[in-house]
Amino acid sequence: MGFNNVALLGAGTMGQGIAWAIAAAGKNVILYDIDMKFVDKAIGAIKKGLARAEEKGKAAPGTADAVVGRIKGTTNFDDLAAGDLVIEVVPEVMSLKKEIYTKLDALMGPDVILATNTSSLSITEIAAITKRSDKVIGVHFFNPANVMRLIEVIPAVQTADATVDAVIEFSKEIGKTPVKVKEGPGFVVNRILLPGMNEAAFIYYEGLASAADIDTAMKLGAGWPMGPLTLCDLVGVDIALAVCNTLFAETGDSKYRPAPPLKQLVRAGWLGMKTGKGFYDYKK
Ligand code: NAD
Repeated sequence: MGFNNVALLGAGTMGQGIAWAIAAAGKNVILYDIDMKFVDKAIGAIKKGLARAEEKGKAAPGTADAVVGRIKGTTNFDDLAAGDLVIEVVPEVMSLKKEIYTKLDALMGPDVILATNTSSLSITEIAAITKRSDKVIGVHFFNPANVMRLIEVIPAVQTADATVDAVIEFSKEIGKTPVKVKEGPGFVVNRILLPGMNEAAFIYYEGLASAADIDTAMKLGAGWPMGPLTLCDLVGVDIALAVCNTLFAETGDSKYRPAPPLKQLVRAGWLGMKTGKGFYDYKK
């Protein structure tokens, strides 16, 4: 069927990359956030990134204008109604997601699929508060979403096969590689990756090595493209903590208990690259 007008809620770290990926694939995006400053920042970053690519000859002249021209920013919730697929990328807070899904369920046509980019929350629980639980699904992009090729496609218990098929098709249309994963805390990637980042934070907390040396060790010793603490800063320390908390709460397994630095950094408001400070200081 093909979706050509994607209603995207949340213009933060992930919303920006997802808008970029979808618009670069020739589809239109309605990018909604609660304040225009977030929308403008996201669109500005996409434009800057593509302008740089044009300068380097990595993108055809005019790409930046064309891609940004397909993104319509808004703070008017009703504008989302023009979308034929919804992707929700708001903060990882269940009460907020539920509030938004109730509003989306009332606004969007009955056949419109509502997809969530949640890293760790139960899609089954989100689906259950809508009247279209067969059309609610997880589409888990990775950061930066305009670069990373994987999408985990996660059906809720109630999700119809047709919804899964449509989302898999869409993922391919925007140049991504989908993998289907049954719902479970952390899905595949974060179930494996987060404990690694959390363990790095424990090693740091125990003073066994500096942050830079922990990262160097995993880059040079394990072939990671970036160290686990840098990755934590890239992902957002708040997001990493939220995923650890969910893994811990869902399994009751102490191996997932969050390391103290994750909690301390979040309490201080040092959420990583997006705030200029996390395990590292990016303002220097
Ligand atoms: P973020 O904090 O960078 O961005 C969230 C955006 O949502 C902000 O711009 C905020 O203003 C906006 N927002 C808040 N309330 C809103 C509302 N009521 N309606 C619309 N927008 C609202 O967060 P993020 O890192 O982009 O994460 C968003 C989602 O994506 C979370 O569910 C997270 O778990 C998931 N995710 C994050 C990553 C990552 O690496 N950061 C990777 C995969 C999935």
